[in-house]
Order: sequence, then structure tokens, then C-alpha cells
Amino acid sequence: MRFLDLILRKRDGHALTREQVDFFIDAVTRDAVPQYQVSALLMAIVLRGMNDDETAWLTDAMVRSGERMDLSGVSGPTVGKHSTGGVGDKVSILLAPIVAACGVIMPKMSGRSLGHTGGTLDKLESIPGFRVDLTPAEFRRMLDEVGAAIIGQSASLTPADKKLYALRDVTATVPGVPLIAASIMSKKIAEGAGALVLDVKCGVGAFTKSETRARELARVMVAIGRSAGIRTESFITGMDGPLGRTIGNAIEVAECLEGLKGRGPADLMTVVTTLAERMVVLAGEADEERAAARVRQAIASGAALERLARLIEGQGGDPRVIDDPSLLPSATGHHSIRAERTGYVERLRADLVGRASMALGAGRQRVDDGVDHGAGVLIRSKPGTAVKAGEVVLELLFNDERGLADARELAREAVVISDSMPAGSPLVIGLVN
Ligand code: URA
Repeated sequence: MRFLDLILRKRDGHALTREQVDFFIDAVTRDAVPQYQVSALLMAIVLRGMNDDETAWLTDAMVRSGERMDLSGVSGPTVGKHSTGGVGDKVSILLAPIVAACGVIMPKMSGRSLGHTGGTLDKLESIPGFRVDLTPAEFRRMLDEVGAAIIGQSASLTPADKKLYALRDVTATVPGVPLIAASIMSKKIAEGAGALVLDVKCGVGAFTKSETRARELARVMVAIGRSAGIRTESFITGMDGPLGRTIGNAIEVAECLEGLKGRGPADLMTVVTTLAERMVVLAGEADEERAAARVRQAIASGAALERLARLIEGQGGDPRVIDDPSLLPSATGHHSIRAERTGYVERLRADLVGRASMALGAGRQRVDDGVDHGAGVLIRSKPGTAVKAGEVVLELLFNDERGLADARELAREAVVISDSMPAGSPLVIGLVN
């Protein structure tokens, strides 16, 4: 088989065979083909697409390019979770202890912040001592003893995805539902959970801006999960505005603590409880009605908060942050963004708030940048709030003034005030199953 024939075939709009897809991924994994040929094939895939069979084969070949976690024998049903990423998206940090308190084991490999979207690992690392680099044995022990663990991506899983993603990043071939779906799902399948709940974000702050595209990505990922024998469902949730009231690292952890103490913001808790209930159902722990009651009870009884304390302690972090969030890193500088006129906050554009947070140091522009765990943006007035001219809408938190001018401009632009109360749009847009 010649790699050139794969490029020709895809360029001319034909489907690849399973053997050809395997050949492609094997060659990439072994570095047995020049990068210019891989790039040409990736571009042909972006332009011509792949059918569902090709996408499932691509995913399967990427899973087989590395190790697959063996979670058999773990002491309960395992359900994975993945979000396509957003601004203020701290859902995993709440979800893991909630579902663990409901008897569901959540193994989670997460990413770091990049561009305007945040990353769960950076948020958790704001907790003094917290380690995301557990050994496989430590990870396994956490799952058995606590019911959840949140760690970084293991280097031994899906090496083909790592190589392809690096190339896609510099050849304008990140877009394209088949490549995105295969990239995400290969990692999730390799993580080894028995079921999977996905959260495809949709809106200006998300990877997929339109509902049509979000639905297509969700549909393809659900089909891939099913063909791999994993019960998979995907929510589509809104990402036009930031989730919750905080964007950053330590401030998002503090908001999670509030959420588990029963004082979380409505939008954040809606997404968290919706996903948690579905995870409990998919795990076979309860029907929908009972699942909802169990999730409510896990929060109200303090059981989920207690799980989070055990998760933090088990991963080397200081569990005293639970009762004393002032132990988390903070910011020395504050700057208020005020309403320019009286009216209602109609929108807070997630992409711009995310970029403001990044400019303040809470996120990273390039993969090797560091982050300031104390920096971020605090939302004082959520969309739908009536504000008087001069009232504070956003508060910018920083330790380094260098990004403040940019952040101020982005944050001002993010705030849209109107004369009438905004209609509001549903946060949970749909479920693909
Ligand atoms: N996230 C991934 O893991 N892969 C993609 O291709 C896009 C987003």
C-alpha cells in the first residue's frame, strides 16, 4: 500500500477502506511517512469529510496506537465525562464528587487551558499541593477508595492523536467533525470507562458556534462510542456566556466549593445536575426520577463535599481549602468594569470574557506558557440583571498589570446592555442518544 494512494483517493472524494485507515494511523504512529504527506491527507479529510464507518475506524486505530486503561475490577460502574470546552466551565470539578457520592466511579483525564477556554488541570492545581500526575496505581487506588480521580492525559494513551493534533495545529486542519470526533473519542475510549456522557458546548465561547454543527459533532461522537461498545450520550449546552460567576483558576475552585455547599449559581448547577443525573442513569444506579433525587441528596447532605475533600487529599492537595478558601491563591489587583448606562445586562460574550481572563494571566496563549492561579474575572451582574449606570458588572482580578489594558478593553466589549429584559435562551439545548 502506498500513502500517496490514500491521499489521491480522499482528494477525489472517495471513502477509505478500513485497511487504508489502519495503514494511515500505523504509519503516523511509527513516524514512517513524511509529515507533508500526512498533512495532505489531513487537508483532504477536512475538505472531503469521512463517513461514519471511516470515522469509527479512524478512532479505533488511534485507540490501538497506544495503551488502553483496564478498569475491569474497579469497585463499581465507571462513567466518563468530556466537555468540548468553554469559559467558566468547571463542571468536572463538581461532577466527580457528586456522582462518586451516588455510587458512580468517574475516571477523568483532563486538559489545560488554551486560548480563551479554561482547563480543569490548571484550576485544580491552584489548590496547594494538588497533583494531576498520579501513577496508574495511584489513579486506580483513588477510583477504588474515593470513586473519582482527575489527572492529566497519560503519555501512553493514543500517541497517534498526539502526533496528528500537533500537525493539525500548524496545518489549519483542526476543524472538521471526523477529525475532532476521532481525536476526542479515541482518548475517551482509551480511558476505559464503561459509559460516557459528553457535553458539546455551543455558542460564541465554544469550539462549535452553531447548534447544527454542535449536533453533528455530538451525533458522530455518540455513534463512535456505540460502535466501540460504550454507552454514550451527549448533551448540547449553551456557551454564549460564561458558566457561573467566575472565570480563572482559584476563583473557579472557590465557586465549586460554594456549589457543593448548596450555594452555586443556577446556570452552573443546572448543567452539573443534568449531567450528573444522566451519569447515574447510564451507570444503572437509578432511573431518571431516582437519579435526580440522589443527586440533590448528594449535595444537600454534604456527601459530595466530603468526597471532594477526599479527592483533594488523595491527590496530595490541602483539604483545608474546603472550609477556608482563603488558602487558595488570590489577586492583589482589582479593576471594576461598570455599566455604561442603565438597563439590563443582555449578554456577556463568553469568548471576550475568556480572552480578558487570559490577558490577566489566568489562561495561556501557547501550550508552554504558565498561568497565574490567582487571576481571573468575577461576574457581579449576570445576564438578565437590571443595572444602573456605573454599577459593577465585571471585576478583573490580577497580580501583574501588564495585561490589564487589553483585558479592560475586551471585558468592556463583552458587556452588552439593553433597554429591556433579555428573553434568555435554554442552557441545556438537547440530548443526543
Ligand atoms: N479537542 C481534542 O481533543 N481534539 C480535537 O481535535 C479538538 C478538540
